[in-house]
Amino acid sequence: MIDCGEGTQHQIKCSQLKSSKLHSIFITHLHGDHCYGIFGLLHMLKAGNRTNPLHVYGPIGIQSLITNALYASGGWNGFEIIIHELGVHGTKYEQDTILNYCTTSETKPPSTSPSQSYHQTSFQVILNPQNKCQFRYKPNQIISLGEIDFGISAFACPITHRVETFGYVFIEKDKEGILNAAKATALGAKGPQMGMLKRGIDVTLKNGTTIYSKDVVGDNIRGKKIAVMQDCSYIDSAFEIAKDCDVLIHECTYDQSHYDNAITFGHSTASMAATHALNLKAKFCCSHNFPGFFFFLHITQKIY
Ligand SMILES: [Zn+2]
Repeated sequence: MIDCGEGTQHQIKCSQLKSSKLHSIFITHLHGDHCYGIFGLLHMLKAGNRTNPLHVYGPIGIQSLITNALYASGGWNGFEIIIHELGVHGTKYEQDTILNYCTTSETKPPSTSPSQSYHQTSFQVILNPQNKCQFRYKPNQIISLGEIDFGISAFACPITHRVETFGYVFIEKDKEGILNAAKATALGAKGPQMGMLKRGIDVTLKNGTTIYSKDVVGDNIRGKKIAVMQDCSYIDSAFEIAKDCDVLIHECTYDQSHYDNAITFGHSTASMAATHALNLKAKFCCSHNFPGFFFFLHITQKIY
């Protein structure tokens, strides 16, 4: 799952998806429309008697967001939650936290808990008064998350938005080429020899003839590559790992008449999303906007 906005658990219940099959959640950034649904989802999974661990990846702050919320609401005695915090300057995730069976009696209060009986916080003073972004990340600033499941490797790339934000790229392993069974049979292969040839093993028949795997098996089939770039204005760091992707999912909050707003607030126009797709040579691009400031759904096949 990529991001977990408000009401995600309701959408899952309305869909054909089985929440029990959820393996990992990749949070792109900590704006509420991308992560505030995680608390409801965790409790829905717990109510469904989930026992498998759940991995959560996200920028620095995701760990305190989840643990503080769970602590404040009485602790957690559900399945294991494995949190991977990503740092933009590291080549690997900087901290892994395993949250398992923490209850109020077993867990110390978060360090940010107020020490006084009454504590007032003004969020105004900690908000970035500008709330704007102008920075760009360097190319190829990629964090490898390793093989996450089912032969799929994941990569995180810091992308430009108002808060620390990651794009994610998922790459499926290449598959073995297709065996030309008719040709192999004609050359004399049979039974288990077919499997050997498919696995790249040459076979020598009783009559001394050798059948070479490369002569009867096609080239490896390239695994699919999917790139997901949520709120962002620039994706420089992702170009190398995301190029030639089969599918690019990219936000676009504005039309081109609001280009200045897009740059100022770290979002994209539809044209910017399409330009990124062209530069990546993406085969398929789906652009969308979650909060609905500007309704736009654009799907293009063979865009280059
Ligand atoms: Zn955002």
